[in-house]
Amino acid sequence: MSLKISSALVSVFYKDGLEPLVRLLNEQNVKIYSTGGTQAFIEQLGIPVTAVEDLTGYPSIFGGRVKTLHPAVMGGLLYRRDVPEDLAQAERHQIPPIDLAIVDLYPFEETVASGASDEDVIEKIDIGGISLIRAAAKNYNDVLIVSSRSQYADVVDLLTQKNGATDLSDRREYAGKAFAVTSHYDTAIQSYFSGTTQRAGTTGPIYDFKTLPPNHLRYGENPHQQATFYGDLEAMFDKLHGKELSYNNLVDVDACVSLIDEFAHDEAKAFAIIKHTNACGIATAPTGKEAYLNALACDPVSAFGGVVITNAPVDLETAEELNKLFMEILIAPDYTTEALSLLKSKKNRILLKRNAVALPTVMFKTILNGVLEQDKDNQAETADQFKVVTQKAPTDSENRALEFALKVCKHTKSNTIVLAKEGQLLASGVGQTSRVDALRQAIEKAHSFGFDLDGAVMASDAFFPFPDCVEIAGQAGITAVVQPGGSIRDQDSIDYCNQHGLAMVTTGVRHFKH
Ligand code: 5GP
Repeated sequence: MSLKISSALVSVFYKDGLEPLVRLLNEQNVKIYSTGGTQAFIEQLGIPVTAVEDLTGYPSIFGGRVKTLHPAVMGGLLYRRDVPEDLAQAERHQIPPIDLAIVDLYPFEETVASGASDEDVIEKIDIGGISLIRAAAKNYNDVLIVSSRSQYADVVDLLTQKNGATDLSDRREYAGKAFAVTSHYDTAIQSYFSGTTQRAGTTGPIYDFKTLPPNHLRYGENPHQQATFYGDLEAMFDKLHGKELSYNNLVDVDACVSLIDEFAHDEAKAFAIIKHTNACGIATAPTGKEAYLNALACDPVSAFGGVVITNAPVDLETAEELNKLFMEILIAPDYTTEALSLLKSKKNRILLKRNAVALPTVMFKTILNGVLEQDKDNQAETADQFKVVTQKAPTDSENRALEFALKVCKHTKSNTIVLAKEGQLLASGVGQTSRVDALRQAIEKAHSFGFDLDGAVMASDAFFPFPDCVEIAGQAGITAVVQPGGSIRDQDSIDYCNQHGLAMVTTGVRHFKH
């Protein structure tokens, strides 16, 4: 059922980002109630607001511990608009309806992470805010709950579109999000009490992520998953344009950064296009424009909606080409003024300028009832380390292509096969359950985008247990192969290469990426 919002209670810890929402509510003639600090913020915007104390007839007491915990507030959120008895009671007790609650809780996790005293941490356990959220969410039949500041922009869109009204499905969706917020919040409190939260300044793992600033994301990998990024994004990037980075964006941006850093010391300009953490295009060339166009040519279909990164400043002629692609994000060390103003013409495109920030050398993953920690894969083999195992050695050009293919291979999900020529990815097989499947996928993709594989090279993340991969590669025209080696049947693959004039080199280093 569509319901028009007539009144709202706003009680938020961080006031940033709130202004557009309260301005919209005011334009839509919504009566606004608010608590101390939030009320002062709204007043200084010149927007009429009623103190919650005027609604309850009670002051904020015990240092703010009790502000909104009152039947007039809880009742206004909880009474059922379609139950005559509730309506009669609301009237008898003079409880006006509250159709919308906007709450941003005390920053409990942030306070713990800052290394604050136990006393300060306890004071940051929000009581009234969490009760407002639970009450409003329970009564989603009649009330909309906005339970985090990460939702403001979406709510502005929703209320603009629907002219200040919401549908039951909207309210239920926001109620679901609200309970995700409250359960996450209570879990953080519980883990603080049980001592599992790492405190700043205490000894712990080398990388104590809870000491990093938390960035609440709109949601996780999917909309029903809550998510936080712990880290200093502002140090890492200057966001020059576009919306907030999502969880999936961040994961792809990380993949981009890791891949392009393989080309950090190259004189050539490099461009990579990432989809779902894998490169669907990457190339190096003397100019940015050429590198980008060659990267795009690899798979222009997948490139749609991709995350693009370069190791060099973006100039206007490159920006003119980039501007033709629908991309989520572009990351560069810099942009010329003209390039930037052109690229800013697309509203939703995120433009990031990457700053020189040292990155962690380890990585973590929660699994089972614990955490895995490992060093990042920071090995990169160059041609002078290749061991030629066939009669034929790769040519200089093939060696450069093999080095390039190997760099891409390392950053592609296993099992993977990467097909390349000098300075250009032709195709890769990604995340397959067998290396033969990865190779077949790569060959088919390369052909579908018009690439001739004669003279192309192949990199494999791990050794070939059987000669089938080199056989298929040889038949497709591939002339040089790099692989770690170490299979008991290595010789079968080497024999095939010798019989068919392929060059093969081994590195002794495996690059699985699970
Ligand atoms: P304000 O800055 O408006 O004074 O306070 C806003 C904060 O107070 C919000 O984070 C909200 O969750 C919290 N809050 C609202 N009502 C209560 C209450 O009754 N008790 C406590 N402890 N916190 C409340």
